[in-house]
Amino acid sequence: MEFQYSEEQRAVRDMMKSFAAREILPQAEHVDRSQEFPYENWKKLGELGVINMNLPQEAGGSGADMLTQCIAIEEVAYADSSYVPTFAAQQSSCRHILRYAREPQRSQWIEKFVKPICRGDAWGATALTEPNSSSSDAGSMLTTAVRQGDEWVINGNKMYSTAAGLKNTLFVIVWAIIDKETRASRMFLVPSHTPGMVLGRKLEKLGLRGAETREIFFEDCRVPLENILDNEKSAEISPVGDTQFHSRLFHASNALGLQRFCLEEALRFAKDRKTWGVPLSERQLIQGWLAEMSTDIEISTLLRDRAAWRYDRGELGVAEAAMVKYVCAENALKSANYATDIFGGMGYLEGVPVVRRLRDAKGLTIILGGVTLFKWIIAKEMGC
Ligand SMILES: Cc1cc2nc3c(=O)[nH]c(=O)nc-3n(C[C@H](O)[C@H](O)[C@H](O)COP(=O)(O)OP(=O)(O)OC[C@H]3O[C@@H](n4cnc5c(N)ncnc54)[C@H](O)[C@@H]3O)c2cc1C
Repeated sequence: MEFQYSEEQRAVRDMMKSFAAREILPQAEHVDRSQEFPYENWKKLGELGVINMNLPQEAGGSGADMLTQCIAIEEVAYADSSYVPTFAAQQSSCRHILRYAREPQRSQWIEKFVKPICRGDAWGATALTEPNSSSSDAGSMLTTAVRQGDEWVINGNKMYSTAAGLKNTLFVIVWAIIDKETRASRMFLVPSHTPGMVLGRKLEKLGLRGAETREIFFEDCRVPLENILDNEKSAEISPVGDTQFHSRLFHASNALGLQRFCLEEALRFAKDRKTWGVPLSERQLIQGWLAEMSTDIEISTLLRDRAAWRYDRGELGVAEAAMVKYVCAENALKSANYATDIFGGMGYLEGVPVVRRLRDAKGLTIILGGVTLFKWIIAKEMGC
């Protein structure tokens, strides 16, 4: 196994590192405070070709491998974690079309939806989670889709849909129960502005505030029969299965970028700040924290890189995908916690970047499922 990045991966990393330093980091505190989606930077990310870059070229991506996509996301996240839920929503919404739509809709939707999204001109969203059922348990969903004539009629309520309310969001992929007895579910493509689909308020979050997160209501929302994503693979779709693997890798990369930022800030501060005439970086207890942060970055990197590599080979397993998500997220929260501790009183002030990162890191342990959910998934794979 190779333990170094390819030339292409290094080129993408260097390009994204300088873009993030120049365009993303200087705006990150403003994005956090205003809770405004960074439209201009998103357009530039589209021009750089890093939105859905791992999708095939015929679908508007550049055919990059998953690790290259993850490296690009890690560099964005080094500066601002709040872009990553939107990256994940674009990947999910487009990948679901590519994988589960039937022809001729698939080809039409690639042109109409997937390609503009890859260019950074438009957005898609996914709506699985509900207020009164767990996002990991599709069978408990309350949203239903009932076939009436040549339409599906959707009723229900979804929560936390990322990117559903942006200026040019084109569609939402909605999960719904289609058979109340068997609890079978399917996904439906609901174009924006379809009568009966009503966006709720923009949710105010503790962190990841640049991501637009909405509640959505469906009241007799009608879509044509062909808007069901129902090809021969659809019955296998599961919120804890491989449909969500790409999002786990995206957020593992998010956590990794965040950890690197926290370590750099903490180390810089610890070298500058003197107590009792001695820099904090010379205190062994502080050194222990810094050493743990650095080691956790190595662990996260190795897990993420191997998981991304195995993803491209179709070898990533359920347990491994769960491990990479929860370990990287926990490491991010630990790293941001140590960094804010090292900053002392300043580590409790708004406007100090490590404070924003602590709020973001908390979100990383929740988004896509909590740490205990992933441990449960791993234990199930072990036969428990
Ligand atoms: C910023 C943000 C963006 C989001 N974007 C989207 C989006 O675009 N689309 C979308 O559909 N959703 C989205 N979500 C929802 C998110 O994925 C869910 O909130 C998350 O998966 C947790 O699910 P839940 O809220 O249903 O909690 P639950 O699944 O009810 O879990 C609650 C707690 O119980 C634990 N738990 C659950 N099941 C088990 C188990 N079997 N064993 C042990 N512990 C368990 C969990 O770890 C968690 O700690 C977003 C959330 C956030 C915060």
